[in-house]
Amino acid sequence: MSVLNPASPTTVLPDAACAPRPSACPGLVRIVAARDGGICRIKLPGGALSAAQAEAMADASERHASGVIELTNRANVQVRGVRGGHEAGLIAALTDAGLGPLHDAGAAAPYTQQAQHAQQAQHADDVRNVMISPLAGRDPFALFDTRPLSAALLAMLQRDARFAALSPKFALLVDGGERLARLDHPHDVWLAASHDASGDVRFVFGLAGCPPPATAPAQTDATVQNGSGALASVSPAQVPALVRALLHAFLDLAAADATRMRHLLAAHCADAILRHAQAHVDFPLTRDAALVNWRRNTPADAALRLGAHAQRSAGTWHVGGQPPLGRLDANTLRGLAAIARQHGGGALRITPWQSVLLPDIASHAVPVVLAALRERGFACDPADALARLIACTGSSGCAKSLADTKADALKLATYLPPNLDVHLSGCPRSCAAAHCAPFTLLAVAPGRYDLYRRDGTPGFGPCVARQLTIEQAADTLARLARSNTDA
Ligand code: SF4
Repeated sequence: MSVLNPASPTTVLPDAACAPRPSACPGLVRIVAARDGGICRIKLPGGALSAAQAEAMADASERHASGVIELTNRANVQVRGVRGGHEAGLIAALTDAGLGPLHDAGAAAPYTQQAQHAQQAQHADDVRNVMISPLAGRDPFALFDTRPLSAALLAMLQRDARFAALSPKFALLVDGGERLARLDHPHDVWLAASHDASGDVRFVFGLAGCPPPATAPAQTDATVQNGSGALASVSPAQVPALVRALLHAFLDLAAADATRMRHLLAAHCADAILRHAQAHVDFPLTRDAALVNWRRNTPADAALRLGAHAQRSAGTWHVGGQPPLGRLDANTLRGLAAIARQHGGGALRITPWQSVLLPDIASHAVPVVLAALRERGFACDPADALARLIACTGSSGCAKSLADTKADALKLATYLPPNLDVHLSGCPRSCAAAHCAPFTLLAVAPGRYDLYRRDGTPGFGPCVARQLTIEQAADTLARLARSNTDA
């Protein structure tokens, strides 16, 4: 891993805020060195990006970095290839556009207070995004608009100094019941909107998992005992206090090496965690036996991220597309901003599928917007090979990678059999996928991969073929697809 030059001091930021820390996760104020230059990760609350911010990001990525912009599976954005000596300039440009924690922590404060603000900003930068649907507030099936709630939760997480002790990987999901929802990433705490018997919305919650779909198997005594499934429910107004209490309970009880809720559940039962959390709230917090087999009513459909679909509000649509392997360049981002301004309300949404969604498009403009996305290379149909392939950065940007996964994935796209989703990973860390894809190609050497097939067990699943070239991988995948069909 290369080492970046130290950031230049500016009157906007104390040095500590800009200093690269190669061993940590990237953030907006923590630019981390990689093979292709620095990585600056910008957290977008709810995946929201305005056209003006997208333009500022595009300009800054060209002026201070390589102009390559990556979408992440937490609905964030990464500027890649940050040039040595340009870190402070990039951070200042993004902050001026209203992005990132310095904006919230008071970048314009007197210089004497800036060290404190920098510390707050670093903590806020490290807190993981609260996941919501990219269609929150717009999905016709949503039971609750989760945007204000997720903003309040994120602010609480970023504000409370104790939560700096949480792992940057600690994850929260607030599910409003939308059809466009990503429910295959396990979260440390999940909450899902549900109607109670009187038709009021309650948030059902659970630990270390996801809201169970209608097809989930019934709970057994063992799964109930280990905390799987729904535990109880609270009113929307009680959600922030509940989350705060659960996080305090986690920090109170977790051993030093327990970074995720699943680690805590291995040592303490869910009821013990709830009992401990009870001390932090003034409403009853016990397991609700009636919810033991609670299921999410609306089936989630990831395909709604692509193409054009009607929103809740009559006459408005969202139009979505997948840039090849989650990457776009500055010009493409500028183009998206222009489309959003001209045909929508100037808003963009980044999705946890590493795609882009343009909301609030008027019915008459839908064909134009779809054509504009396709012209710019976006896959807008779930059948497109590039909508079914994900790949990590690979050896062009990551020293850990044993192969150029991005280039190999583009090659595979030309042969990929229909209806198969494939993930190419340069090493077992699996940065591109927080979920397990149906098929994973794990690099073992340049241009060579072992093929794994998901079977519901932890990890990629069993290895079904070794040392494949991309052509051999395509043949093997086609054979497996045929045997699936024949079965
Ligand atoms: S999965 Fe491995 S090789 Fe790929 S970007 Fe992550 S660390 Fe690098």
